[in-house]
Amino acid sequence: MTSITLRSLRKEYNGQVAIPNLDLDIHDGEFFTLLGPSGCGKTTLLRMIAGFNSIEAGTISFDDVVINDRSPAARNIGMVFQSYALFPQMTAAKNVAFGLQTRNIERAESIRRVEAALESVHMAHLKDRLPGEMSGGQQQRVALARALVIQPAVLLMDEPLSNLDAKLRVEMRDTIREAQREAGITTVYVTHDQEEAMAVSDRIAVMSMGVVQQVGSPAEIYRNPANRFVAEFIGKTNLIVRDLHQRDGVTTLDLGEGVSVDVTSTIAPGVSGRVQVSVRPEAVRAGGSGLQAEVVEETFLGSHSQIRARLSTGETIEFLEFSRRASLWERGEKVVLQLDTEMLTYFDAETGASIM
Ligand code: ATP
Repeated sequence: MTSITLRSLRKEYNGQVAIPNLDLDIHDGEFFTLLGPSGCGKTTLLRMIAGFNSIEAGTISFDDVVINDRSPAARNIGMVFQSYALFPQMTAAKNVAFGLQTRNIERAESIRRVEAALESVHMAHLKDRLPGEMSGGQQQRVALARALVIQPAVLLMDEPLSNLDAKLRVEMRDTIREAQREAGITTVYVTHDQEEAMAVSDRIAVMSMGVVQQVGSPAEIYRNPANRFVAEFIGKTNLIVRDLHQRDGVTTLDLGEGVSVDVTSTIAPGVSGRVQVSVRPEAVRAGGSGLQAEVVEETFLGSHSQIRARLSTGETIEFLEFSRRASLWERGEKVVLQLDTEMLTYFDAETGASIM
């Protein structure tokens, strides 16, 4: 197993800064995901770890050994790309065996390892198929087996599910997670899909413009986002602007319309004034006493409905209702919304930084 340590990493393309100064610690055996919008530098960083990209400054270490000057081949990495990059004239088994041939592994051992690798991605039964006779998902399974069979120190995956349809993506991410757990290989995974990242990762680094915004488990970054960017990028949220008041050590959130709630236990002591409040859809309940709103749109999604309502301030609030009825409200109908204050998070109105 291998830990990866990145210190003061900098990357420029023709004088343009892609990654200004990045630090990360990726633990032994961990499934670590680089997540962020297109152009934030995920692939750039992955390619630096792989050794395909030059580095302007900083260090990359595997197990505390600086490997900046090691060639990609000398880094002992397995890679899986968006395009499967299989050899079209070779069967699944031959494709997987290819990586072993250069490593002087005896024939019986090679056969055993190829079978185990194909087994771990549920492809043993198709080992004699050519890539042209496989679906995209099956080809990607073979590509994963090919990366795993060499028992690399580090497995690097760049958007491996992007070419697959939605249902296959969900199946494949389970396979990837299982195979990674079984092999225990330190894995760095790149995606722009936050749901995918949440589903597979031990920890996630959320990136924006070459800068790591937050590192944490899926639950940590969802429940306690470091800033407004993370709150909006991970899951859905409603951002509303409100005032916090301080009196005798008690913090209250003024929701408007004469409704104030005690939020002392969920916010840093002494904070007051104008703030942005992140309200997750599941923190909103219709009914009881609370904020007046008007239903704008209701979308039935099978297991639940998604409702968009407008507050008297003009702000929009989206929330969910789990009901067997496909239609709950008329458009324009009045509803009263209650907020679960335990689930709210707060950001500085100017900087967007968390003030929890
Ligand atoms: P995507 O999901 O779209 O691939 P990404 O987060 O992986 O995005 P990168 O591909 O790493 O982002 O790009 C980061 C920045 O570096 C972008 O501004 C991009 O335009 C720039 N960049 C990437 N590769 C090159 C290159 N070979 N030459 C010049 N600029 C590049």
